[in-house]
Amino acid sequence: MPDTRYWKQEKFAGLGPGGQAALGRSAVLVAGCGATGGHMATLLARAGVGRLRVVDRDVPELGNLHRQVLYDESDPGSGRTKAELAAERLRRMNSGIEVQGVTVEIGPDNILDLAGDADLIMDGTDNQETRYLLNDAAVKLGKPWIYSGVIGAAGNVMPIIPGRTPCLRCLFPRPAPPGVLPTCETAGIIGPTPALAAAIAVTEAIKILTGATDRIIDGLISFDLWSNTFQAVALRSGKDDRCPCCALGRFDFLS
Ligand SMILES: [Zn+2]
Repeated sequence: MPDTRYWKQEKFAGLGPGGQAALGRSAVLVAGCGATGGHMATLLARAGVGRLRVVDRDVPELGNLHRQVLYDESDPGSGRTKAELAAERLRRMNSGIEVQGVTVEIGPDNILDLAGDADLIMDGTDNQETRYLLNDAAVKLGKPWIYSGVIGAAGNVMPIIPGRTPCLRCLFPRPAPPGVLPTCETAGIIGPTPALAAAIAVTEAIKILTGATDRIIDGLISFDLWSNTFQAVALRSGKDDRCPCCALGRFDFLS
């Protein structure tokens, strides 16, 4: 048996050596490096995605450790940021790729720069405002992004390819007012939830980056690990001709 880093991944018929090479040429922005983003970045780094940029403004806290796998007990209070620590650990997992950690709050003033040279944007954020911003940036730049949201034991994942699939605003034209939706602060969260959401999201990322876009989830995957429900909501006809973002080209969250 060969003993090269990716041989079993290349053995997988969906990828092959060509798919592996495509991953190596790819650049991905992971927006947010908490629980979901940390799992995403880990899977992407280990898969051999050539360039990763992980962005997060926070420092690790003790209350993160039950679900945020890139951090350990030495991190809270160390003064080091999540992006800095994540980049260091990801480089240790795979020295053959480039990893950049950026400690900044993602906002309208920096998202186009952060995403400009990426082939794909991963949503590891924990708030709606940033997701609408990612959606605006992705549609404006014509880059795919993978929406991913978790709370409690439930999660949603949806790949969005501008021009081809519905965007976030085709489905939900505007964010819910603050305080209406539950958050992980009010409803809690268990570790498996972001792990599963990230696993589904990174699978979609691998499909897109290797050109297997005919394989992507057609719509939204929705799961609840506590009530044991797994649903695929097809959205073939979900593209809205009057969508302010992808149809009318209005980028309300970027401006
Ligand atoms: Zn749209």
